[in-house]
Amino acid sequence: MRYVSTRGDQTERRFCAILLEGLAPDGGLYLPTHYPQVDDATLTRWRGLYGNGQAGGYADLAFEILSLYIDDIPADDLRALVRKTYTKAVYGSDAIVPVRRLAGDLHIQALSNGPTLAFKDMAMQLLGHLFEYELARRGETLNILGATSGDTGSAAEYAMRGKRGVRVFMLSPHGRMSPFQQAQMFSLQDANIHNIAIDGVFDDCQDIVKAVSNDLAFKRAQKIGTVNSINWARLLAQVVYYFAGYFQVTTTNDQKVSFAVPSGNFGNVCAGHVARLMGLPIARLVVATNENDVLDEFFRTGRYRVRGSAETHETSSPSMDISKASNFERFAFDLLGRDGARVARLFGPALVQDGGFQLDADDTARIAGFGFASGRSTHADRLATIRQCWADHQDMVDTHTADGLKVAREHLQPGVPMLVLETALPAKFAATIEEALGRPPLRPAGLDGIEALPKRFIRMPVDVAQVQAYVARHCAD
Ligand SMILES: *Cc1c(COP(=O)(O)O)cnc(C)c1O
Repeated sequence: MRYVSTRGDQTERRFCAILLEGLAPDGGLYLPTHYPQVDDATLTRWRGLYGNGQAGGYADLAFEILSLYIDDIPADDLRALVRKTYTKAVYGSDAIVPVRRLAGDLHIQALSNGPTLAFKDMAMQLLGHLFEYELARRGETLNILGATSGDTGSAAEYAMRGKRGVRVFMLSPHGRMSPFQQAQMFSLQDANIHNIAIDGVFDDCQDIVKAVSNDLAFKRAQKIGTVNSINWARLLAQVVYYFAGYFQVTTTNDQKVSFAVPSGNFGNVCAGHVARLMGLPIARLVVATNENDVLDEFFRTGRYRVRGSAETHETSSPSMDISKASNFERFAFDLLGRDGARVARLFGPALVQDGGFQLDADDTARIAGFGFASGRSTHADRLATIRQCWADHQDMVDTHTADGLKVAREHLQPGVPMLVLETALPAKFAATIEEALGRPPLRPAGLDGIEALPKRFIRMPVDVAQVQAYVARHCAD
């Protein structure tokens, strides 16, 4: 398998060459040259591998899917990496991503039983093992610099903690994460994890990361890298749970299912798009947004209108507060017949200058052929959905999953199971759960009292030079 850029650079690269990289040199995102096709016999074999979610089944399934896209890691090594990643010890059950029925055709697929209680663990845990493996093979080290408002940073830290050859420097807005999220990150005592609390907002943190990354000399000297959601390996890891979800609610391969996906950067649902193009029988991919509805607008109208940070709403499903969906370009590449020159025109500098683009009627009409549908959910919808789900099903969902559930109901088709992807557990977003239910969220065993643990972080003003000095000092550790 080889990978090319979405913006026309036809240089073909192998998996490990793009693993530690962000964007392609032409500013595009990497995609495989083609999507391997899964025929009926293969789907049946994979169904047997995953079984009823028996021990090791998910890892075996992951190995099969990853092997189609990774041919520069020996099979035995890759198998060992996925077996280390997808264990009951880490995810709480042999099924790894268990599906539960709410009512009728409506199901919830749990992707949030990893160490940080959000679906980002599904991919990030694998990335941690892949990075450690590839860096050791090359004899290199990598210093990951990132900014987080909560979920991404903690998933990255829990994936990279204690890994050889990797350090993490994670910027977060001081005092602005939920107490639970802050405790999750700051209680890590691993020497290779550095929490930097910035006296500013999330945008300040992101601006610092951008400034440091644009300092190419510093970036090269300090071996700075990222783990953001455009990383192809993260997306690939997510393809696996669409298959595992499908197997749990069907018995034969002629059945179709739909997925509803709480979306922000379009990474999660883009993995569903890849699974569908590989041949997984998916009826609909339902994109659910919150008040930041750039994706919903696109899937209804063909108009992609990026918003500035002033137009980005702070909502009670904060991990979906995105105004420019970074993985969306991958879908656009497939939608536009893989015309890299056209994608480059649409997503290059003009995207920001013009504030977006409008597809013509023909291209807009082709969206439905890719199975996409969409909807949006507001704070009031979120509260009502959390209440209704608790009252009617004794099932407590988090705010992001509530957005997915609300929109899923608008796209149900008779006889087609609908799987709502649970992207976080309610324990992470206590304030909104209290507002909806008048009681604190359920908390998984073992996390009581996490807020009282000793915290390890350093506080800094919004100052690029101070962050650079800190990174440089600790890169030599
Ligand atoms: C990151 C995140 C999302 C959005 O996922 P994308 O891949 O960016 O679309 C949704 N819900 C939660 C809880 C998240 O952490």
